[in-house]
Amino acid sequence: MNTINICGIPFNIKEVDEIPPDIPGEVIHGEISHSRAEILLRESLPKELKQLALIHEWVHGVLVMIGRTDLSDDEIVVQNVALAINQTFEIKEEVEEWIEWKDFLINEQKRRQKNCSLKETENE
Ligand SMILES: [Zn+2]
Repeated sequence: MNTINICGIPFNIKEVDEIPPDIPGEVIHGEISHSRAEILLRESLPKELKQLALIHEWVHGVLVMIGRTDLSDDEIVVQNVALAINQTFEIKEEVEEWIEWKDFLINEQKRRQKNCSLKETENE
């Protein structure tokens, strides 16, 4: 089973068909239960939205753990922090991909230069 660490406590992550809404007709992407140490995620969500929902619930969890239930109850604060975290790690992945690509280009250039100098010595 997948778990996520919230301030040192492993929370189980469960994907479910539907999360019962407080307001009828509302679509809930995720829910956290502190007493069960569990996060529920709506299974049918696209990967990116599921990731954001998981981070959103993680932010709720951290805020409750540090005793700021007042902030945890503020969905706008929670969502903005979740968006900030999500976008930060997206950028990190992009930078890592760029570094890998740059290393590949440098190695490719070195390989070609080596091949060229090998050919030159063969011709001499
Ligand atoms: Zn929320």
